[in-house]
Amino acid sequence: MTAGLEARAPKPIVAAMRASKSSAPALPLDSPVQALFGVGAERAAQLARLEIRTIHELLLHKPRRYEDRRHFRSIKELQLGVPATTRGRIVAQGLKTYRKGTRSVFEFVLDDGTARLHCRWWNQPFMEKYFSVGDEVMVYGKPNSLKPCAIDHPETEVVEAGEEVSIHLDRIAPVYPLTEGLPQRWLRSLVWRALALCEGKITEPRPELVLRDLPSRNQAMRMLHFPDEVNNAEVARQRLALDEFVELQIVIQRRRRYLEANARGLPCAGDNRLIKPFLQQLGFTLTGAQTRVLRELRRDLGGAHPMRRLLQGDVGSGKTVVAACAALMTLESGFNVALMAPTEILAEQHFRNFQCWLEALGVPVKILTSSRKTLADLPSSTHHDSRLTHPSTAVPKIIVGTHALIQSGTAFQNLGLVIIDEQHKFGVAQREALVRKGRYPHLLVMTATPIPRTLGLTLYGDLDVSVIDELPAARGRIKTFVRDADKLPKVWEFIRQKLAEGRQAYVVYPRVEDSGELAISVKAVTKEFERLQSQIAPFRAGLLHGRLRPHEKETVMAAFRRNEIQALLATSIIEVGVDVPNATVMLIENADQFGLAQLHQLRGRIGRGAHDSYCILVAELKTPAASERLAVLANTTDGFRIAEADLQLRGPGELVGQQQSGLPSFRFGNLAMDFALVERARTLAAQVA
Ligand code: ADP
Ligand code: MG
Repeated sequence: MTAGLEARAPKPIVAAMRASKSSAPALPLDSPVQALFGVGAERAAQLARLEIRTIHELLLHKPRRYEDRRHFRSIKELQLGVPATTRGRIVAQGLKTYRKGTRSVFEFVLDDGTARLHCRWWNQPFMEKYFSVGDEVMVYGKPNSLKPCAIDHPETEVVEAGEEVSIHLDRIAPVYPLTEGLPQRWLRSLVWRALALCEGKITEPRPELVLRDLPSRNQAMRMLHFPDEVNNAEVARQRLALDEFVELQIVIQRRRRYLEANARGLPCAGDNRLIKPFLQQLGFTLTGAQTRVLRELRRDLGGAHPMRRLLQGDVGSGKTVVAACAALMTLESGFNVALMAPTEILAEQHFRNFQCWLEALGVPVKILTSSRKTLADLPSSTHHDSRLTHPSTAVPKIIVGTHALIQSGTAFQNLGLVIIDEQHKFGVAQREALVRKGRYPHLLVMTATPIPRTLGLTLYGDLDVSVIDELPAARGRIKTFVRDADKLPKVWEFIRQKLAEGRQAYVVYPRVEDSGELAISVKAVTKEFERLQSQIAPFRAGLLHGRLRPHEKETVMAAFRRNEIQALLATSIIEVGVDVPNATVMLIENADQFGLAQLHQLRGRIGRGAHDSYCILVAELKTPAASERLAVLANTTDGFRIAEADLQLRGPGELVGQQQSGLPSFRFGNLAMDFALVERARTLAAQVA
């Protein structure tokens, strides 16, 4: 079998040494890895599992860590719990089995002249094959005892004599992510040879950009794999990360330029005919921030190019009213408006609000969701040429809906403005799909997830940004508490008291039904519901989760809004948008299961009325880290700080909602820390785009 042969193929390095002599023809970077000596079908398949198919991808395979093999720690110097690399010779080894051969421990004893080190592998009897007494071995790991000095499951590399020693020893050696069957040393040699063969081929991706303080891409590739100093590996990473960010920013900026070159903005700034009476009947005055944003929107809506704007504002900052005003300007100008929300509950809520606000002004408000397709004047979804309104004679209207709005068959005549609420719940593709329903309508996307700037430039780099950075006055305060699960009885006592005062409460659980092992500690709403009903009697409880039918959800929400239900037991389905000012208590159980940004959103459901509100985060606080994480919420209500913390703790994918966000994955770029690089990439891209 080729696998065995390949694994034993003795001296690929000899070929490499020869190849690296100047006479050897360099390989193109996009050659398949099989073009390298020693890579056959089996190795190629293993590399493919690491997403390495070409030589270029091999060179972009980022070391997981580096080992300074110029200085080894002597075994005597090893410290408890401190990872280190040491080196010695195996003086004894053996495999012990017990429990009738079902369990085993393989151990070798390493001696470096200063002391002895015991290396052990539990239940991996095959390890025995890889070592023999007399082998010289490098060992990396954390000593878990000092008397005797021992490391369990260390990383190891047997020192082999031969020409390739200089690749693996007396230098800072890269340690790569591997896949089953692929030896570390083999991969390291392969990268070494690939570098030697291709170095001259690695050119600057954008030669017109001058990056004086950073190595060339060519140098960076070498520094990434075989740095002279550990710091240099980080410099190389930054260079390669910058390249990634620049390419992305170029795409973003070109998209924007294309729009500006090809599309004229529809005149949608309006004439105040509808806004004036709207603001008079609203019952409150707009905050300074809301007013400022409205000015920005009006300028965009009357501008030469279609608006492309992101409206950021923390939960409860009053984005809906601002969106309504933008809608009114558009309607005044004779164009239709589409508003898309991520859940039916939220779409229904907007529909009701807009009906109540706008129908008095003579503006028709329609709704389109998957369960409400029966609008009299909506075309059937089978007719491709269907139109929402009849041109010219029709009264401009606003249509509110879910993603059902973008499903095929619904076309929008005269679409002036598209508004997307809670935009982070949609992907870039969905946003574009709705925009394409019209002929370059204006676009306003809104989000309450405060996106740290690095992430914002990456995700929304083609949008202008407005921020509502002020909450409406006369709001009660929100107090946040973190409590261990064993304090629940007290917590419930408190909640009953608030219900008795006339307030309402949300109770949130992470899952709908118990399923599988995970659920042992994760309480499930359906089960809790029965217990809750008796716990809060005579008050009434309602149950809300994603598996209910749309009309069932709406019935429960309506009852909660009318205060016929006092405690609403729900999954995170209520995370976005829901607005019931009398609800002042938010109890979140198993709070450790949620991201911080998500908890902040949930907390945003309360503190919407004049009464003080209480957010209680309950979790099994087994580790200090668990309570520390939740303490971030207790210590600040600043959504931006919470989002930054979440970005650090859980990475960008969690913060903006999975892959659907359109967030590209970077090999080298790290959105949680490369703030300056992203900014720089933006400036550089402007020189190219
Ligand atoms: P979000 O920005 O989270 O979408 P909403 O638009 O749902 O917030 O607004 C939250 C609540 O604040 C709503 O009940 C809304 O009517 C109210 N509101 C909005 N603007 C003001 C204001 N300027 N003064 C008082 N209340 C306001
Ligand atoms: Mg909202």
